[in-house]
Amino acid sequence: MLDGVTRRYAVGGAAALDGLTVPVPGGACLVLLGPSGSGKSTALRLVAGLEPLDAGRVLLDGADLAGVPPERRRMAMLAQRPLLFGHLSVLDNVAFPHTVRGVPRRRAHADARARLDAVGLPGFERRRPGELSGGQQQRVALARALAAGPRVLLLDEPTTGLDTGARAEVHELLRRVRADLTLLLVTHDPVEAATLADRPGDRVAVLRDGLLQQHAPVGELYARPASLTVARLLGGRTEVPGTVRAGRHVSPLGALQLPVPVPAGPGVLVVRPELVELVPAGSGIAGTVAEVRVLGARALVTVAVAGAGGTARVHAEAPLGRQPAVGDPVGLRVPVDVRTVVPPSEDGERQQLP
Ligand code: ADP
Repeated sequence: MLDGVTRRYAVGGAAALDGLTVPVPGGACLVLLGPSGSGKSTALRLVAGLEPLDAGRVLLDGADLAGVPPERRRMAMLAQRPLLFGHLSVLDNVAFPHTVRGVPRRRAHADARARLDAVGLPGFERRRPGELSGGQQQRVALARALAAGPRVLLLDEPTTGLDTGARAEVHELLRRVRADLTLLLVTHDPVEAATLADRPGDRVAVLRDGLLQQHAPVGELYARPASLTVARLLGGRTEVPGTVRAGRHVSPLGALQLPVPVPAGPGVLVVRPELVELVPAGSGIAGTVAEVRVLGARALVTVAVAGAGGTARVHAEAPLGRQPAVGDPVGLRVPVDVRTVVPPSEDGERQQLP
């Protein structure tokens, strides 16, 4: 549990982390998601005890960790880079947490072998880290972190330096070894957040400028971002400014019924591109394809809709090969339940919508 956790690097300066309060239930995964400079790594270092708090408390199972040194917090960290000892064998690297505690060599090695099996690297014991790929090195680092017998695994952008295949492997492995460990993951990548925070109790805390923006299951962040910042961070693209009147969002798209009550006044409609349906011209909201960008197996189709008060741009997705061409007239369907309205300015951001 983080309770009012605050860190100010310069006396009198802006807080890198400002009164962050979020529960971290035992056995669950909490993701700290935010852009660079939002305070994520600071939070992780405060939890690990590597950095002093200026205010607030870090609690583990209800016990305040103030004064408990990092090595006694029962936490292990998997950093962006594996940070292995280059002169030691893979086996000795993994056995290291045991060695420093004075565990007899044979027992330490037996455990390290089991950990290497668990991360899918049996037979690599005698190699040096320099003889492994980046993904394999990160798996060794994970085996070493697990060998420390932590209650909490701290993950600091653990796959940032890896290629797509190795990233997927490390993600899969983390999901497999996770068991009842508590995970605290720092990332700027919503896909990583969604991949690792996929159990019912898992939550994502979105940070910006050291402030908590939203704390919710990842599905809710996608479906109901509380602010433009959250919507953008989660890869949202469509932002249609307009006005809310009597439960409808009024913009060049028309007067669209909203699924939940929203206070009257200016508001921006945000809609996930994968939830907008492209339908034949003549049905739905009439628009014209303004741009098509291929994103792997899907194409991102930008549709311009001219209406009262100007032109809105709405992004939709189509399977590759089935996308319309620039200039084509198309129809758009925006199902009622996917319409979300957020405050128009980034200043209004912390205010949660009902
Ligand atoms: P993130 O991990 O989200 O990129 P950080 O926690 O690293 O964010 O940084 C949050 C803010 O604190 C940034 O403005 C950063 O410049 C500042 N900061 C981080 N570490 C230090 C430090 N050791 N000394 C001074 N300022 C720091």
